[in-house]
Amino acid sequence: MDPETVNKIAAGEVVERPSSVVKELVENSIDAGARRIVIDIEDGGKKMIKVADDGCGMSPEDAQLALKPHATSKISSVEDLWNVQTMGFRGEALPSIAAISKFRLLTSDGTQGTEIRLSAGKDLIVQPSGAPRGTTVWVQDMFYNVPARYKFLKSSSRETQAISDVVARLAAAHPHIYFHLRSGGRTILEAGGTGDLRHVMAQVFGNEFAADAIDLYFSLETVTVSGLLAAPPHGRPSRSGQFFSVNRRPVRSLLLTWVTDDATRGRYMPGKHPVLIVNVSCSEGIDVNVHPTKAEVRFAREDIVRRALFHAYEAAFLPRADYPVPAQAKETDLDEWPQADDTIAQLVMEHPATGQRAFPELRFLAQTHGSYLLAEACDGIYIIDQHAAHERVFYEEVESTTYPSQLLAVPVTVSLDANSAAAFDEHRHTLEELGFDAEPFGPRSVIVRAVPGELAVSFTERVFTDLLEHLVHADSGSGLSALNEARKALAACHASVRASRGLSDMECVALIERLRGCREPFFCPHGRPTFLKISLHRLRKDFLRT
Ligand code: ADP
Ligand code: MG
Repeated sequence: MDPETVNKIAAGEVVERPSSVVKELVENSIDAGARRIVIDIEDGGKKMIKVADDGCGMSPEDAQLALKPHATSKISSVEDLWNVQTMGFRGEALPSIAAISKFRLLTSDGTQGTEIRLSAGKDLIVQPSGAPRGTTVWVQDMFYNVPARYKFLKSSSRETQAISDVVARLAAAHPHIYFHLRSGGRTILEAGGTGDLRHVMAQVFGNEFAADAIDLYFSLETVTVSGLLAAPPHGRPSRSGQFFSVNRRPVRSLLLTWVTDDATRGRYMPGKHPVLIVNVSCSEGIDVNVHPTKAEVRFAREDIVRRALFHAYEAAFLPRADYPVPAQAKETDLDEWPQADDTIAQLVMEHPATGQRAFPELRFLAQTHGSYLLAEACDGIYIIDQHAAHERVFYEEVESTTYPSQLLAVPVTVSLDANSAAAFDEHRHTLEELGFDAEPFGPRSVIVRAVPGELAVSFTERVFTDLLEHLVHADSGSGLSALNEARKALAACHASVRASRGLSDMECVALIERLRGCREPFFCPHGRPTFLKISLHRLRKDFLRT
């Protein structure tokens, strides 16, 4: 195959229609650090596309190199493929575009200006040229040398629409950059430049969407979700107003769409979809170039992304006080709720595919009586015992020995009764292993210098005496069991200390999240259930619907 054919084939991959040319050129401008990007088109981009930026520009050598296939300056090894933070890295776009158009590039790195012209990838002209720092690319008569592809282009207005969508999605992902799109000299979209995402939302979707839009934010492990969600009732009849980006690269993702549908279901009017701008930033494990133009994204840690996004929505809808309480619910009725079929036995349902226990995808609703968390999942209502959940979470933290020992600024003296003093003598080693630093201080007291974990610091005396009380009953013969008892006791202490401080809604959400992360989330260390479930099935049955 001659190089021209190779380029034409490559062009077919990258360059589908005018909007894909705009996307490639604008992404290059963004990668070049542009603050202003001005796009002009004519006839839906079929006749002319011009993209001008004030980015870093190129030296004469780099400019010529940029027109050679695989001349990307953005990647040097295969490992980089999973962690690309810039928009493009295949080094194919410019030569591919030049191969199917009348192409002109004017660029300057601030010292030297260069102009390059190509027609159908041939007849190269390179000449010095005066220009301010930045780059301008003209693409004229797209596909003029590939009529078979030209005839697949749509009407000018359809192509203009597609370009407008591409620019809007890029603008939404980069609120710090000013974007201006004109068609035939007429402004179609002007957005961004201030860094204010709400402003961009107003410019792209209209003020009615942006005015009371809700901030989205949730961070989990290596994933951070941030953005804006237009509050109900403002929705659109399709999902066209859902702009997702990953590491500021606009993407389409079934996963993100699915989570959005799931988390917002029932909140918007039937047939309305939420309008939103969401960026997912992942510090590792994404593959953005599954396909050069389709912008499908693949995450290595799908579960983390799914949960982070879900909780971002969940937090956005807090507080929610609009849950109807049945007017005539009597206490006796309530007591009857969690019957045999709905208790823990039912919770531990095997996951059909993996055979593992599945922790339900819970949506936190409210806290009740200062001690229970109410949550819903697709299959019913869940009631979480906050204390038992905390015990489980703290227990596994203590167990994993990553519980950091905290040195007390002021050592605390704790007086003990005879039994506890004996327990201290006997289990000193166990206590040390847990992270306590304590020694006898007279016959009936000890001085404590360090305790395990943040929480214990302000409650040293209580935690320490509680613990010893438990150890009094521990089997003195087996060190292992004593340590285990001590862990349980410590977790229980922490849990009650935690309970006495009350929980904010965000902390409730976080507690559910931490419980999910537990090895054994369904029971507290003493074997009590951490939550109960009232299945949808049961609700229907008891309300006489089946
Ligand atoms: P890629 O973006 O995948 O590296 P391209 O063909 O899109 O490949 O661009 C090739 C190279 O040309 C880029 O790596 C970059 O160094 C340079 N380049 C392209 N457009 C611009 C621009 N607007 N400003 C500065 N440099 C650019
Ligand atoms: Mg590129």
